[in-house]
Amino acid sequence: MEQLKFCPLFSGSNGNSIFVSYKNTKILIDCGCSFKRIKESLAMIDEDINRLDAVFLTHAHTDHTSALPMMMKHLDLKVCGTKGTLIEVYPKICDYSDQIFQIDRNQNVGVLDLRIESFPVPHDACQTVGYNIYAGNKTVSILTDVGHLAENLYTDVAGKDLVFLEANHDLNALENCAYPFHLKVRIRGDEGHLSNENSGKFATHLVNNGTKKIILGHLSGEANTTQLAYETVKDVLSTGGIKTNQDVLLSVSERGCMGEMVLL
Ligand SMILES: [Zn+2]
Ligand SMILES: [Zn+2]
Repeated sequence: MEQLKFCPLFSGSNGNSIFVSYKNTKILIDCGCSFKRIKESLAMIDEDINRLDAVFLTHAHTDHTSALPMMMKHLDLKVCGTKGTLIEVYPKICDYSDQIFQIDRNQNVGVLDLRIESFPVPHDACQTVGYNIYAGNKTVSILTDVGHLAENLYTDVAGKDLVFLEANHDLNALENCAYPFHLKVRIRGDEGHLSNENSGKFATHLVNNGTKKIILGHLSGEANTTQLAYETVKDVLSTGGIKTNQDVLLSVSERGCMGEMVLL
């Protein structure tokens, strides 16, 4: 039976890209790293960068889009994003306008063997989205760069088999880290990033609605650690009566490293 293959190539405020494939369809969600590193990371999981069909962008921030000009220059692939995202990145990729496709928020599009649905996410980049990916009877959600847990997320993301979920910072660590004050305000603001605590609350909702695996990602470099993210989310799940590794598999995609490959 064909399996969905999911692998975070990079995750964190210094670069984000997730590989997803099913049957003959291969896509990236975001490409916020160098072209060379994306190519090397794909090779490590036996994937050829030249075989990519499309890149779906969550938003225009450079930690999600920096490789885009090189990707467009060297590869024959589609780039898909909301109007707000595409307007931001367009000056860098305007030579390839026939490969650029606008998707509306909450639109569901088919890309060969996959169906991909976007949903709005509150963040300080124009028309930021997360994605639900449907492959046969398997479902995956990608939800990072989340300023707060907006009401739509509770329905848009619920019920998926695997969720890649932001656990950006620990509130105490953020308060005491070396970031300038304005950056701290931005990160914890309503259009910034999701704390470990809130990630745990949302994870509880997901597990109660059938999610069996959660990978935490987009960790802050100064205001979080792999262990802190894992332990905090595990503790919040436990408060909700959920046993990690029994009711749900929980792991963390380490900052700057290749994450685990999941086959569904
Ligand atoms: Zn980001
Ligand atoms: Zn962002």
